[in-house]
Amino acid sequence: MLGVESFTNRQPGELARMAAKKVVTERSDEDAYDVVAVGAHPDDVEIACGGTLAALSDLGRKVAIVDLTDGEPTPLSPSPEVRLAEAQRAAEVLGVDRIVLDLPNRRLFDDFDARCLLATVFRKLRPKVVIGFGGKTPLASPDHWQAMQITDAAVFYSRLTKWDEHFEGLPVHTVQRQLYFRLAFEPDSLAEYPGHFVQDITATLDRKLEAIACYETQFPPNKRHVLERVRAAAILTGTAAGVGAGEAFVSPRPIATTDLVTSLFP
Ligand SMILES: [Zn+2]
Repeated sequence: MLGVESFTNRQPGELARMAAKKVVTERSDEDAYDVVAVGAHPDDVEIACGGTLAALSDLGRKVAIVDLTDGEPTPLSPSPEVRLAEAQRAAEVLGVDRIVLDLPNRRLFDDFDARCLLATVFRKLRPKVVIGFGGKTPLASPDHWQAMQITDAAVFYSRLTKWDEHFEGLPVHTVQRQLYFRLAFEPDSLAEYPGHFVQDITATLDRKLEAIACYETQFPPNKRHVLERVRAAAILTGTAAGVGAGEAFVSPRPIATTDLVTSLFP
């Protein structure tokens, strides 16, 4: 069943703005996404884990970014359309698909409609792994904390039976793994969770920075120092793990291995 927004014919990097009523496409498992990363605003995901998503894309994984809001208004962006164009270019740099939802920037709240909207996207994209915010971000947007709670709930709602009427009639989907990302300037660890690990992004750090730089309205010349700080944070995170650059993730559940040697020396 194809609806208003079909992903089947989408090209990598293609951007679609979707309202809740437009998410109506069923997908076969061949079309399922390996990873969906959820941010509150376009640029959150790039700053948190753009290097990882680029590396996954290079490996042939099917990856999408979902932004809960369009991130507008912001002080230096002339219009939402400009920000969306920046977001599309950034997704193209990383080699991933992107969906920008129409929840309200600056007043994003964890409520039932927001949970159902994102769960509907999960039922449509059918990701194996969902990555999203892992806690509060003091001094930054409170939308981030709300995004974490919406994402947690949507992962759960996605698999609930006998409730399809809230998800455009789409079948249930169980997300097998959920991970939390850390914004580049935040501490790498979340003390309350057991599983921390680092993705080596030595080969994709430059693309991560290139993707962030696509947001010219957010990082004009007088804020370009942010890019150097993102680079420095990635090098510090990677150095701690013995690689050139890295991005930290937290698993709320322990991660098991069946071959310790291969896991430690992939
Ligand atoms: Zn943000």
